[in-house]
Amino acid sequence: MSDGCVYLVGAGPGDPGLMTIRGRDLLRQADAVVYDNLAARRLLDEAPGDAEMIYVGKQAAAHTLKQEQINELLVKLGSEGKQVVRLKGGDPFVFGRGGEEALALVEAGVKFEVVPGITAGIAALAYAGIPVTHRNITSSMALITGHEMPGKAESYLDYEALAGWPGTLGFYMGVKNLPKITASLIAHGKDPATPAALVRWGTTARQETVTGTLETITDVATAAGIKPPALIVVGHVVALREKISWFENRPLFGKKIVVTRARLQASRVTAQLEALGAEVIELPAIRIEAPDDSAPLDQAVSAIQAYDWIIFTSANGVDAFFGAMERAGLDARALAGVKVCVIGPGTAAKLAQFGLRKDAQPKAYKASEITETLAKIDDLNGKKILCPRADIAPKELIHDLEARGAEATDIAAYRTVGETPGQELLDDLFADRGPDWITFTSSSTVTNFVNAVGLDRLQASNAKLASIGPVTSNTIRSFDLTADIEAESHTIPGLIDALLIAQKSQE
Ligand code: SAH
Repeated sequence: MSDGCVYLVGAGPGDPGLMTIRGRDLLRQADAVVYDNLAARRLLDEAPGDAEMIYVGKQAAAHTLKQEQINELLVKLGSEGKQVVRLKGGDPFVFGRGGEEALALVEAGVKFEVVPGITAGIAALAYAGIPVTHRNITSSMALITGHEMPGKAESYLDYEALAGWPGTLGFYMGVKNLPKITASLIAHGKDPATPAALVRWGTTARQETVTGTLETITDVATAAGIKPPALIVVGHVVALREKISWFENRPLFGKKIVVTRARLQASRVTAQLEALGAEVIELPAIRIEAPDDSAPLDQAVSAIQAYDWIIFTSANGVDAFFGAMERAGLDARALAGVKVCVIGPGTAAKLAQFGLRKDAQPKAYKASEITETLAKIDDLNGKKILCPRADIAPKELIHDLEARGAEATDIAAYRTVGETPGQELLDDLFADRGPDWITFTSSSTVTNFVNAVGLDRLQASNAKLASIGPVTSNTIRSFDLTADIEAESHTIPGLIDALLIAQKSQE
């Protein structure tokens, strides 16, 4: 036996947070990852950058690899002494053919372990507000495959037993056979009035639930256009959903929201929107790069004691400034005596990461208010003020400071560069109903996004545009587009508040 080991790991039902800690730990140290069409593609990012990523997915008809070939592949990788993660949706042993894979590994003498996952039959229902058992309603649940073996005329499911089953029935892979499943249960004596539901893409932002009775559910699901993957549930526990439904009740549930800010800054917004139930698509329209020439910033940093104030108008500026400090071999102590002003809470939070507190921050998140705020604290006449900003930052702030007699040094600390999202991604995004909201957190995100997507496509879509503030809104209008909402406080939380208010008023 080699030192290799194959881990049959359950990835959980879709929500990436529903994978086990053990599974994630194994992914993080994998030499090879063998996966199929997972709902939570994001989990793959947990694997080390140099891990072998092998897709063996099964797209409904076209099996990329046959099960025997997958078994052989696992045996081969394990025999090579690798740490192999075989990642499977839900639980590996619940209709996941994990049992077959384990047997093949046993036969070949390859070491393996199993890491259970939360199966869709429990998780999708939980996220639909349907407890699979309930003390007063049912005390058992059956996990059943609704997939009939191809070519088999007779059903191999014992419908008589299923119709008489005194608990919840959960059918996997049954959407295509839904008419047959319901008809067979009724034919074998199950009450046609028994509550039934289908939960599609459970635990994900795309979750969709329809409910009815054993008699009506086929028509309801057809009318709603429910396709796989979906879980079919039959039983009185379905009725509890009316009260317990929680996931689909979150304020931004079902909304597709595009985040256009630079990738490195997107994760916080994304996390907040997702927590409110939105499906977030990150399409960065800009990225932040080092300036063409970093000498001016380096020089300013090496003479930092000559300055009275530093004004940071973005978190990127803070990052760039401390990058230059690092290059100069300096740390926060070099700033003793120099006062610091930030434009808003996000920038202040970034500053705090470097162990510094702000001396000033305007009440409103506006460059135009910075000078006034400073003037209240300090006589600006003759003061030296450093402004490490974007290469394209408007000059207004510098002019305001100069008008008060200050000596402002405007330095391009970073560059904002247009980022073009892949056309395939965009085509996918605008297919069907397209996004519900596109969020813009700066003028440059607007300009670059419109250029990348094309004005025609934007005008033709039903997407509403959300702007962080008046400057960004002006840029939106300059393209003859409408800023449907504008944040009252020009911060990310302000933008999210505006989305929530807009959503509420639509309901
Ligand atoms: N091993 C998996 C099941 C694989 S069979 C598990 O334990 O969950 C595939 C079937 O699982 C699908 O046809 C569907 O019926 C169900 N399924 C998987 N993910 C689902 C999800 N997110 N929502 C609803 N059903 C899902």
